[in-house]
Formats: sequence, structure tokens, C-alpha cells
Amino acid sequence: MSTTHASAQDALHKVFGFDSFRGLQEQVISSVVAGRDALAVMPTGSGKSLCYQVPALVRPGTALVISPLIALMQNQVTALQQLGVRAAALNSSLEFRESTRIEEAMRDGKLDLVYVAPERALGEWFRRLLTQTKIALVAVDEAHCVSQWGHDFRPEYLQLATLREQTGDAPFLALTATADAATRKDIVERLALKDAAQFVAGFDRPNIRYTVEAKSTPRVQVLNVVRRHGGAAGIVYCATRNKTEQVAAQLQAENVQALPYHAGLDQGLRARTLDRFLKDDGIVVVATIAFGMGIDKPDVRFVVHADAPKSLEAYYQETGRAGRDGLPSEAVMLYGLQDIVQARALIEQGDAPDNQKRIEKQKLELLVGFCETTRCRRQALLAYFGDDLPEKCGNCDTCLEPVESWDGTEAAQKLLSA
Ligand code: ADP
Ligand code: MG
Repeated sequence: MSTTHASAQDALHKVFGFDSFRGLQEQVISSVVAGRDALAVMPTGSGKSLCYQVPALVRPGTALVISPLIALMQNQVTALQQLGVRAAALNSSLEFRESTRIEEAMRDGKLDLVYVAPERALGEWFRRLLTQTKIALVAVDEAHCVSQWGHDFRPEYLQLATLREQTGDAPFLALTATADAATRKDIVERLALKDAAQFVAGFDRPNIRYTVEAKSTPRVQVLNVVRRHGGAAGIVYCATRNKTEQVAAQLQAENVQALPYHAGLDQGLRARTLDRFLKDDGIVVVATIAFGMGIDKPDVRFVVHADAPKSLEAYYQETGRAGRDGLPSEAVMLYGLQDIVQARALIEQGDAPDNQKRIEKQKLELLVGFCETTRCRRQALLAYFGDDLPEKCGNCDTCLEPVESWDGTEAAQKLLSA
């Protein structure tokens, strides 16, 4: 196929087969096509990938896509190739011959998009290749990884701005699903975005029903959620590797197709689990937070936090993996005070600098506030991101079954102020 499409609309219809842009896509794309740096903060599932894939086809040259998610790159590349887009991923799993072939194609201007992990992008070899290639744009996906205060900090991200030395005047596009104002500022500074256009979409995911339950009989509580969604795909998040295996075994004993996933498992096994989750029906992955960032599975019907997440950003991002197809979905958190106490202790014992520990503890307290709120859960969540939801949502536990106060509030306050 030809490299350059006359217009973004043209590429949208002819290549991707979509009728129209969604949300902020069109604005982000026009800005990038015009060659301006931009930061796009758009919820999970809102279609951030298209924001660089379309400009990649409209602007001359090869688009560079930096992503920390090596496991997912190949999925994206395969999907693009099936649409006739000339895409490739450079990663450490390639044989020498294969990477040489991709590099040659880049130099010859025969690739529309190249996905690359940050450590690879920063190497001398790759930088030399960049100077020999016409670069259409540089997309930095999961850009919140640049922020030390975020939950996914990646030190390599701090160096990405230096790629400008090799990419000339190609615009940089930073993309993320979660960034409060401070993180946005961090991203702009650390990636050295120039006169960046900022696009921040609303955070509301109205099809997700939020519920926080007091943790009492977790085994039964998790099973109840799984059963309610009889045979649908879902994710159960646990705080530790051990626990993912335990909970997966418990679910298997109840004839649920549950699979554990954590960073301690063999890479091949992890890849197979991810593959089954994406391709088979009704797989429940029981995972640590190692699972999920960037996973594009539209019909995840529920996300359960068997243990509390680390912060509201983490909660939003993890629950955001439910219902990307827009159909009714559920996020259920089991909230137990003991978990919070433990999480706090872990922060204390960690070797992060004091100011970071302070921030992490603050984030945990905000999470507790969210768990114990009696106001609309969605209003509380969106308020955290600076989004104002004028009406109660009618689709969260506190709207559906209003309560006077959270059981155990006093106990929580005591423990946390101790
Ligand atoms: P994000 O990275 O923001 O989480 P993705 O880029 O993975 O989201 O896209 C989520 C899903 O939305 C994908 O299945 C994608 O094909 C679909 N999608 C994106 N843009 C559109 C559009 N304009 N019309 C229809 N579907 C779209
Ligand atoms: Mg994405």
C-alpha cells in the first residue's frame, strides 16, 4: 500500500475501516499531522493508538512508537499488518537477521511504523539508524512512566528527550490514560515537549459500575463476582504473587477457568496466559499489577481488587480495563483495613526517598477516603482527577444502596493516625 494518505479521514476509513473519530482523536491527530508536539490524556479504551497510527500514515516517513509493553507490541504490529500497514517491532526477541531486515526497511523508507522499547531506542545503534531514517513522528505511549511519583516509573523514560538529537523536527506525541496536573507538567518537562498542545479527555467510564465491599470472606466475595458474570472474562488483582496462585487455585476448584499471572512466572507461560485471555472466552486472570497495562481486550466484564490498589490512579487504570466495548461492566474492590496497614508498612520499609514515601502515603490515604466515602463513588473518583460530575451517577454502590457511614471508619482513622 502507499505510505502517505491524502488525509486523516481517508486513512481512518480506508485503512482502519472506522466511520468516525471518537472523542479527542481528531483534534490530537490534526495537531500531530501539523507537526506540533502534543500531550494527550485519554481514558483507557478511548483509542489512543489511532492518535499516532493515523498520523504515521499521513506524514511522510516512519513513525517511531516507544512503548514499555514489549509483550503487546507484537499484537499491535500483527493487527496493523493485517490492515495492510507496514509496521514492525524491534525487540530483544528478534533474531539478528530479522532485526537487520527491519533496520534496512526503515532506512529505505519502507515502514510506516516501528515499535521499540525505550532501552532499545536509546542505544547508540538505534540512534545511528534514526539519523539515516526520515522520522514522521515520535509517539511516547504510557507517558506517565516518566513521572517518578507515578506508579509505573521507568528510569529510561527520563532519557527519551535526548532522542530529539536524532529525530530532527519530528513532533513528539506523549500519550497516557492517567495523569493529574502535576504528572502532566512532569511529562511536558521531562520529554522536553515544545509549545505542546494539551488534550485532556473526560475520565468518566459510565458503563463501569463501581463497588467497594468490606473484605469479610474474600474467597466467597470473589467467587460471587465471577458467578454473576457467568463465563465472562475478567481480571482479579491481588497484592502478592503467592496470592494470585492461591486465588486462581480456589477459583479452579469451583470450575472457573482461572489462570495466575505475575512477574515471577516464566515468560513463555505469561505469554500463553495473555494469549488465552485475549483469544479464548471466559478466562479469568488472577494477577498482580504486572498484568494489564495497555491490554486491548474489549469484553472484560469485571475487574476485582481482591486487595486494595496502591492509589486512586492505580485503581482507575486497573478498573479501566473493564468494559472497553462500552457494555455494562463491574469493578469490585474488597477493602480491608489490614491491607492498608500492610501497604503503609511496605512504603515505610521501602528504600524510596522520604519525600516520595510521604507522597505514597498521601495517595494511600486518599484511596482510603474513596473507599469510605458515602457520596457517589464516581463523583469521588472523578473529582480526584479534577473532573466534575454534576449529577450523582446512579451506577455505583453508594448511589444504588446509600449508606449512612462506612463500617469501621473510626477504626481506620485510629490505625492510620497511629
Ligand atoms: P487506548 O490505548 O486508549 O487504551 P486503544 O488504542 O487500544 O485504546 O483502542 C481501544 C479500542 O478502540 C481498539 O479496539 C480500537 O480499535 C478501537 N477504536 C479506536 N478508535 C476507534 C474509532 N474511531 N472508532 C471505532 N473504534 C475505535
Ligand atoms: Mg494504549
